[in-house]
Amino acid sequence: MDGLEFRKRGREMVDYIVDYLDNIDARRVTPSIEPGYLQELVPENPPEKPESFDAIMDDVEKKIMIGMTHWQHPRFHAYFPAGNSFPSILGSMLGDAIGCVGFSWAAAPACTELETIMLDWMGKMIGLPDDFLSNKKGSIGGGVIQSCASECILDCLLAARAQMIQRLKVKYGDEVEETSLLSKLMAYCSKEAHSCVEKAAMIGFVKLRILEPDESCSLRGETLRQAMEEDMENGLYPFFVSTTLGTTGCCAFDNLKEIGPICDEYGAWLHVDASYGGNCFICPEYQYLMKGVEYASSFNMNPNKWMLVNFDCSLMWVRDRFKLTQALVVDPLYLQHSYSESAIDYRHWGIPLRRRFRSLKLWFVIRTYGVSGLQEYIREHCRLAKLFEQYVKSDRRFEVCNNVRVGLVCFRLCHSDEVNQKLLSAINASGKLHMVPASVNDKYVIRFCVCAPNATDEDIEYAWRTIAKMATDVLEKMEI
Ligand code: PLP
Repeated sequence: MDGLEFRKRGREMVDYIVDYLDNIDARRVTPSIEPGYLQELVPENPPEKPESFDAIMDDVEKKIMIGMTHWQHPRFHAYFPAGNSFPSILGSMLGDAIGCVGFSWAAAPACTELETIMLDWMGKMIGLPDDFLSNKKGSIGGGVIQSCASECILDCLLAARAQMIQRLKVKYGDEVEETSLLSKLMAYCSKEAHSCVEKAAMIGFVKLRILEPDESCSLRGETLRQAMEEDMENGLYPFFVSTTLGTTGCCAFDNLKEIGPICDEYGAWLHVDASYGGNCFICPEYQYLMKGVEYASSFNMNPNKWMLVNFDCSLMWVRDRFKLTQALVVDPLYLQHSYSESAIDYRHWGIPLRRRFRSLKLWFVIRTYGVSGLQEYIREHCRLAKLFEQYVKSDRRFEVCNNVRVGLVCFRLCHSDEVNQKLLSAINASGKLHMVPASVNDKYVIRFCVCAPNATDEDIEYAWRTIAKMATDVLEKMEI
């Protein structure tokens, strides 16, 4: 494809994208297919001869779109939002076209510097303490874009692990094997933390103690203190605590104000996973939910969830960048450059070497909407979640199961888990709405998340009418 054809195809693609997103509600939100459906539609072997672009695009509709769960659909209320907006798509396109690889400042100066500046912008927008910003006098902190929250948490766990191993080497002597010290380390999180914390501990080869939160699904200081003291009596060293602001199941917020001082006292690295919840902190009225963040060593949030930025764009900040990089630096000659001492080389801040120009889409989105436009978008989603909560509360067959503070409502029929499972299966099978379940206080609940970028009151009303009608059908069928 030459430049001339790319112009033509590019314009067609923009038209296709706009038509897809503008008319997405004409499609089923979930596909009506079985696993393996695509095997029957795509040839077993790659084409020997070039194919026309028209033929490829023809197959997009016939083969790909019929197998899509449409995350941007107004009837999609599952998981958390998948950020999307036209400015973000354009930023992505430009990043792809520039096609640089930003592993060092020298390899991609603007890519590196825009990333640093965007992380400072975002840090200020969500009210992070100045220590986390790069461009503050005397600061040794800073931020970086990773591909996902799971990666952020793993990186921070590895940094905390390196920090504690170093301390233990001072205590036990340099000759002690690191692997034997590893067996003495203990990490902590709540039962409500995302499973990626467990995965990080698995990869990091460290023990993880999963703690019971309180009845509001929030991890409390006393629970952590008791666990740490018990472990220390058994010769273990608490080294890492992963807390969550906006848990996956029911959007609960751990109590950082209580947990922070305990991490300080016992010398453990406090990480804050605000993957979804962190986005609402761009509105000052929600920042009370992050009180205690001043104790954190690291923090992550995903604009690619709830700030109109397309995947992937997961932000991570550390209070001390040298503690992070000491766990991750390997520095062969061929990657060094004459500014290695004075510039940021993001390859030392994470696992991958190659990095895309992801800050462009963040820059495009923040400038196009402005902070006030993004705040308006978040507030609207929170208002719509409250509207849905009111619908649930108005029907005595149902109960609301979480403290609805932002964009997620957990609810259930006041019946057994089995009845609720049947209701959710019926709704999802209908293709009219898509939601997923969670377990809250050991009960099966249905999660309703406001996800579509342009969600409206009518969408919420439609969702509620569908749920209420399906509930009537399910209860009748089960003769309840
Ligand atoms: N943390 C929380 C609180 C989440 O809800 C999720 C996913 O939804 C994750 C971490 C993992 O996110 P990612 O897909 O960016 O790794």
